[in-house]
Amino acid sequence: MGHEQKGGVVADSALTVVIVGLGPRGVSLLERIGARGNRELTLHLVDDAQPGAGRLWRTDQDRDMCMNTLAGAVTMFTDDSFSGAGPVVEGPTLWEWCRLAHETITGEPADAPPIPDSHRRAFLEGADVELVAADEAFRAEVAAAGPGSHPSRALFGLYQDWVLRTALAKLGPDVQVVWHRTRATRVTTDDAGRPVVELADGEVLRADAVALALGWLESEPNHADKALAAAVESSGVDVTWVPPDSPIEQDLSGIRAGEPVIVRGFGMGFFDSMSMLTIGRGGRFEPDGERLRYVPSGQEPILHVGSRKGLPFRAKSVYEGLPPAVKLARVCAVDWRARRPLRFTEDFLPLLARDATQAYYETAARFHDIDLDAIIELIDANEPWELAPAIVHLLPDELPPFDFHALLHEHVHPQGRDSYEEFIVDRVASDLAEARLGLDSPFKAGLWEANAARRFLTELAAFDGIDAEGYEGDLREFLSFGGTIGSGPPAFRAAQLLALVDAGLVRFVGPRITVEVGETGFVAHSPLIEGSRVEAPALLDAWVRLHDGRFTQDPIISGLLEQGLAQPFGRLTAHGDRSLGPAFAIDEVTSELIGPAGRHRIHLLGIPSDAARGDTIIAPMPGTDPTMLREIDAAVEAILA
Ligand SMILES: Cc1cc2nc3c(=O)[nH]c(=O)nc-3n(C[C@H](O)[C@H](O)[C@H](O)COP(=O)(O)OP(=O)(O)OC[C@H]3O[C@@H](n4cnc5c(N)ncnc54)[C@H](O)[C@@H]3O)c2cc1C
Repeated sequence: MGHEQKGGVVADSALTVVIVGLGPRGVSLLERIGARGNRELTLHLVDDAQPGAGRLWRTDQDRDMCMNTLAGAVTMFTDDSFSGAGPVVEGPTLWEWCRLAHETITGEPADAPPIPDSHRRAFLEGADVELVAADEAFRAEVAAAGPGSHPSRALFGLYQDWVLRTALAKLGPDVQVVWHRTRATRVTTDDAGRPVVELADGEVLRADAVALALGWLESEPNHADKALAAAVESSGVDVTWVPPDSPIEQDLSGIRAGEPVIVRGFGMGFFDSMSMLTIGRGGRFEPDGERLRYVPSGQEPILHVGSRKGLPFRAKSVYEGLPPAVKLARVCAVDWRARRPLRFTEDFLPLLARDATQAYYETAARFHDIDLDAIIELIDANEPWELAPAIVHLLPDELPPFDFHALLHEHVHPQGRDSYEEFIVDRVASDLAEARLGLDSPFKAGLWEANAARRFLTELAAFDGIDAEGYEGDLREFLSFGGTIGSGPPAFRAAQLLALVDAGLVRFVGPRITVEVGETGFVAHSPLIEGSRVEAPALLDAWVRLHDGRFTQDPIISGLLEQGLAQPFGRLTAHGDRSLGPAFAIDEVTSELIGPAGRHRIHLLGIPSDAARGDTIIAPMPGTDPTMLREIDAAVEAILA
């Protein structure tokens, strides 16, 4: 089916769908369309970034940038856990794809465990892996990949590229694909209410439906950042400020060797920046017994790191294979659907605290002579905050009690800089030791249960599953804690951090970091840490702002809001009114935007609506009926209807 070009306007004559954004969600849209078989359809695909990989996973990026998820725990394919309406079409996980690519390139059969036949078949019937074969570093990476390895982001981009090419090849003969390697600038409607997409190159696409898979979008700086920008402007001081963004989009060239740089953020973004400013500048880490030693290039700055909590995200456990299955026995025993809106603190948290505590002692019982039955009895008989003192008398001296309540409320006490820095180093070192124990760490087993509760919770809390007060309050606080225990760096990054502290290249400022402009540059300080004041000519914000529709800088979203084609999602409050938040009002099933001007078959997918749907950020995990695949499948079902 063709389309006519009329004075810059492309008008298609059959069902016409525009997909804006060809990152993982755009790829999944194509895969789900193809899964439904041939039909007369024109697909316009719009993205100026590398198709498949998208902006974030582009394959030409620094290979030292790695995923914080595991190769065996990422897939783009449905499996028998899938509950969507569309067909299940199995295919290789990222790890299986690495093994099959290695097998194809070298002729060496993949070792055990066996790869399911359906996954192998999908690989063999899929696109070629010439891009892997042609690149020595990719060949080495697929050869070394294990289920528990952290793939480079570029390799995940290559997998996406393969899934995209495979999905395109599977589209039926009546599907016409039109590529637009440009930005979409505006989505509007014509007189008949049909969606229209305007592109930066001047083309205008009239569609029956539009799928916006835009990923991470620009939000306006917050009030404090605007004030800091104004202070920089009026001071006339020569400083470099690298604002929050994905690390590969940040220009670090203004951060000079040998000079201090203030870094805000202690999560994945910090560990990425740390790597880019050290390994990325020619330094290297060498094994030194159990530890690492850093060999500098002389091009590194000195990083002074602070954040809101002043505590680094905890390292990911080192598993030989996939992470352990989560039990959450008490949590899962409840029919939460019958108990909406969710009361997180009153109903959910006590069960979670008990489940996490039990996981700790069950693991500990493999190494210590403890009376597990008696401990479990106490777990059920006591309030969550009383568990540690209630159980401690049953433990041998060498086994500390698990104090979930204390972990959840962990904070830094006022102290001097030396003792704070010593505390952080000890905390990173002991956490790393636990991470290296893998499945044998009671501590990480407890935290793993708590981390796993995040997805469970965000699904329960989706849309009106929890009231606005509950969402904004304790749930948000818990999810933020969950991020620090579950979305942290691979363990090797924690080892690198310790080596950089030894080399004098990383220092810690403290919690509640404030930054202002002084006479010679930025001045950072933690009100809780005496002697923490530091001056630096550069400030690096090492995180990615989560999109907020109320403060968006994205032209498509602001245009949709202006035209009444979109509106903020309002969560029900305890008083029965609605409190507007950062996400958008969308159909809970199909993700179609619901604006004051009604519905116009414009579907907004993924991260911009995280605060409504939840669980939109992490890539799909095999065997978990992933939210993203269900979300995309339901949108495709509606789009093709
Ligand atoms: C630094 C960083 C690290 C991450 N690491 C992990 C990880 O290790 N594991 C994990 O599971 N998840 C990770 N994530 C989450 C990640 O965002 C998701 O896994 C996934 O990329 C989301 O897919 P998406 O297709 O929705 O969005 P994206 O991957 O962001 O893709 C969106 C695409 O839309 C395009 N686009 C946007 N606007 C327009 C427009 N107007 N016109 C044309 N094209 C447009 C962009 O160019 C981009 O290619 C990470 C996120 C960040 C920021």
